[in-house]
Amino acid sequence: ESITVQELAEKLKKTAAEVIKKLMQMGIMASINQEVDYDTATIIAGEFGVETELKVAVDKEAILMAEPEDNEANLIIRPPVVTIMGHVDHGKTSLLDAIRETNVTAGEAGGITQHIGAYQVEHNGKKITFVDTPGHAAFTAMRARGAEITDIAILVVAADDGVMPQTIEAINHAKAAEVPIIVAINKVDKPEANPDKVKQELTQHELVVEDWGGDVIAVPVSAKQRTGLDNLLEMILLVAEVNELKADPERMARGTVIEAELDKGRGPVATVLVQNGTLRIGDTIVAGHVLGRVRAMIDDKGRRVKKAGPSTPVEILGLSDVPEAGDTLVAVEDEKLAREVAAKRQIRKREEELKVTNKISLDDLFKYIQEGQIKELPMIVKADVQGSIEALAQALEKLSTDEVKVNIIHSGVGAINERDIMLASASNALVIGFNVRPDMSVRKVAEAEKVSISLYRVIYEVIDDVKKAMSGLLDPEF
Ligand code: GDP
Repeated sequence: ESITVQELAEKLKKTAAEVIKKLMQMGIMASINQEVDYDTATIIAGEFGVETELKVAVDKEAILMAEPEDNEANLIIRPPVVTIMGHVDHGKTSLLDAIRETNVTAGEAGGITQHIGAYQVEHNGKKITFVDTPGHAAFTAMRARGAEITDIAILVVAADDGVMPQTIEAINHAKAAEVPIIVAINKVDKPEANPDKVKQELTQHELVVEDWGGDVIAVPVSAKQRTGLDNLLEMILLVAEVNELKADPERMARGTVIEAELDKGRGPVATVLVQNGTLRIGDTIVAGHVLGRVRAMIDDKGRRVKKAGPSTPVEILGLSDVPEAGDTLVAVEDEKLAREVAAKRQIRKREEELKVTNKISLDDLFKYIQEGQIKELPMIVKADVQGSIEALAQALEKLSTDEVKVNIIHSGVGAINERDIMLASASNALVIGFNVRPDMSVRKVAEAEKVSISLYRVIYEVIDDVKKAMSGLLDPEF
């Protein structure tokens, strides 16, 4: 392991001359491009009063992750990557299925479709990539981890239902990510469909459709009757063209993991959306903390492929472990570097997991209070009716003592959902459910995030438990 004098000087924010001088004092004659080993580098850093051990490690990661320059001459137009968002039951899944089934590329008909988390269709000879995981835990995780893979967001709004809470959430997500939105007004086949009402409601969220003088494209569709789909694809390609999406297929691949699991027969399997460059069989890859060598690739039609270019989703085999959705995948030439970075990340991951287990629950609350580790007890309260929430919030906040302040950071009517868990995880909060429950998938997320959920049917019991937990009197079997 070594570093050039030049690099070392840059890291230490010194001139090369200063570094060379220090080296000379140690009896080492070095020129600016000469390499010195890390031990020497660390001593030099120490001479300057800088701790390098960590810096070197972090920088290796930076080297691995550094985005190479596109070569202008190689640039090609790449297919747009489209995500479908919208309120539950407005037809996201139906629309994804309808588009997929009605747009099997010529020559692919009869091919077995594979659900790998994303698929590609062709329209008028141009490809479009759809991310096929709406509402999945993976999708939420990806967003929570800031992975941006979407070029265009399709906002599905049911014409018989209009703009709903998750519609607004989707709008806000797309806006925050600065992703252009195309509105698909779905279920127009229904007698009670009212597209104008949808358009009107959208204006309240600063989405003014074209026929109302704005610049947002809205397409009426019926996923059920499969109408308007061509028009929707047309509009996607139009928006893509305006945005000039380009990539350099000659580069080493870089992409994002959109799904990953441990397959009984095949070992760790991940679906990767290649975003730039070309991924090839035999490539050494790093995805998050996972090292690998691409052993096989399978496309969304279940075919084995040897390479995958920009905007292509592929399932890959050959990973040493299961990466996480949202992890960036890079193909690298320097296997040693890849190995080192993956190992470093593994250690960091383990450390973080240990930290996660330290999340508070009612059981260990008292311990933390005693140790002075917490001064505030954040809580999320979900209940079946507003009245209960108000009563609970008031009573709980009254439990605040000089040592600990009870703080209801979020409350709401309805089942405990994934967003509650993510919020609880981020703020180390306890989740209390009153006459409401989390479903299986939410429980799983809570488990993974080590978030504690307590469910009650009697207000008195909630208050009693929290009070006991705060004073260390909670029954151990709780
Ligand atoms: P998601 O939760 O957004 O993925 O919604 P789904 O695709 O599961 O659809 C919810 C329900 O609406 C299902 O019962 C679908 O059959 C129905 N649905 C979806 N699209 C249409 C449509 O265009 N017309 C009608 N009439 N029903 C639809």
